[in-house]
Amino acid sequence: MSIAKPVHADQLHFAVDGAELLVGGLPLGQLAERVGSTPFYAYDRALLDARVAALRAALPVALRLHYSVKANPMPAVVRHMTGLVDGIDVASGGELRVALDAGQAPAAISFAGPGKSAAELMQSVAAGINIHVESQREIDVVARCGDHLGLRPRVTVRINPPFELKASGMRMGGGAKPFGIDSEQVPAHLAQIAALGLDFHGFHIFSGSQSLKADAIVECQARSVELALELSQHAPSAPRLLNIGGGFGIPYFPGEARLDLAPIADGLHGLLARVKDALPQAALAIELGRYLVGEAGIYVARIVDRKVSRGQTFLITDGGMHHHLAASGNLGQVIRKNYPLAIGNRMDAAPGVPVTVTGPLCTPLDILGENVALPDAQEGDLVVVFQSGAYGLSASPIGFLGHPAPREVLV
Ligand SMILES: *Cc1c(COP(=O)(O)O)cnc(C)c1O
Repeated sequence: MSIAKPVHADQLHFAVDGAELLVGGLPLGQLAERVGSTPFYAYDRALLDARVAALRAALPVALRLHYSVKANPMPAVVRHMTGLVDGIDVASGGELRVALDAGQAPAAISFAGPGKSAAELMQSVAAGINIHVESQREIDVVARCGDHLGLRPRVTVRINPPFELKASGMRMGGGAKPFGIDSEQVPAHLAQIAALGLDFHGFHIFSGSQSLKADAIVECQARSVELALELSQHAPSAPRLLNIGGGFGIPYFPGEARLDLAPIADGLHGLLARVKDALPQAALAIELGRYLVGEAGIYVARIVDRKVSRGQTFLITDGGMHHHLAASGNLGQVIRKNYPLAIGNRMDAAPGVPVTVTGPLCTPLDILGENVALPDAQEGDLVVVFQSGAYGLSASPIGFLGHPAPREVLV
């Protein structure tokens, strides 16, 4: 097996001071003491700010930027993001509560996701948020909730488009899908929305995730706008929001290049002009999760044992797949690859013998890094997993094997 380089320059956004990685300006060793126990997740406010600022600088000013809470629902992170973006997108009643607690104005919260329960829909109507309806049943239940509360629910129609985001890690549109309403059925559902007197707000098309191919995103965004404009002819009133999804990826693995924003910005300038012309009152929005928060977070675990088994060196840590399923390779990867890694208190040391980093779970699935050329590390040292600000703790099976949950800090 080839020996992996632990982290690439493209993936290192945190500063380094001598031996120590800096998180929120603090040396990692000091932060670990401040947190009080390992393992933990740490998210860096300055990196969140910088990412949103860079994105705003690159993309057209008129474009609305939404944050998808699913990527990282830590309440402090969501509160921080509400101050940076134009809207918050939630995918459950629990995320909705976090967004409301964070102080986000209800009019700037949208709720998408299949199978919303009657309780979630009632909660949403009562909160006055924008509900992305994804079936006839949701439309009917929302209307009944509105009657019950004496309120006029605001709805956006989530469309399952006849295309998908090519070259994306996760495809969520095109063909038969549980997400959204098939585009060919949308006119009939719009008629229902009109008949029930709901407040039609706009369209939502989300067709994929984790794409590093700007061309694919540009094409998908153009097709999404065209589809929304076409379907708006059947709408009970002119749409005020076209949410054309996101899908911006981040480089997790060796050989992956950063997403080039320039062609996307060019495409969006054209689309904004097109929308302004056809639907002057409609805002154009994109929704991003991992691109905003993924690279601003690390997972930190302490080495509890170092042993050699038949020539292979293992660093066994107090954290693993139960806290960070994605980094272990068990969240949708077909071939296991290493997330970028470092020994956060030996940043200035040269690579030593290749090691395999594991967690404390009694399963061969519990791997954080395989055959990685990390600096020589000992018991007590801190293993850092980069690109861990999204789909970390909340996407992991923390009950598996009964170890304590990791802490989370925003620094
Ligand atoms: C998951 C999801 C997102 C966020 O995806 P990222 O890859 O984190 O950007 C955005 N919108 C919808 C509808 C989603 O389901």
